[in-house]
Amino acid sequence: MCLFCDIVEGKIPSTKVYENDKVLCFRDINPVAPTHVLVVPKKHFDNIIDVSSKEDGALYLDACAKAVSEVAKIEGLGTGFRVINNCGEDGGQTVMHLHFHVIGGVKLTEKMI
Ligand code: 5GP
Ligand code: ZN
Repeated sequence: MCLFCDIVEGKIPSTKVYENDKVLCFRDINPVAPTHVLVVPKKHFDNIIDVSSKEDGALYLDACAKAVSEVAKIEGLGTGFRVINNCGEDGGQTVMHLHFHVIGGVKLTEKMI
């Protein structure tokens, strides 16, 4: 069982921001900024390593990149935003279904890099 597969399948409700045949973008349940949207491929990949090893991975990565742009447009993030991917246990990944955090709507100050 995978939480984000269940959300993609509509078994668990989410607040949708953008969707197409390859991705679902919905609001994080525990937002860290006024905009905190998760860009999630509709096909299950564990993480960025997994998707990069799959034949159709590039299609889904491309769809995620374009969805980030759509979310930024929808959310009015023209002055900037941050995209975060946590990979694996040491990277702080808690849901083991590939996703990108799109964070913005405020001037982001807490930079690690
Ligand atoms: P990670 O820590 O894996 O990079 O990110 C997982 C994110 O999923 C966290 O920011 C967490 O708040 C969010 N999350 C966990 N469970 C749910 C849920 O049931 N619904 C939504 N919308 N977000 C969730
Ligand atoms: Zn999944």
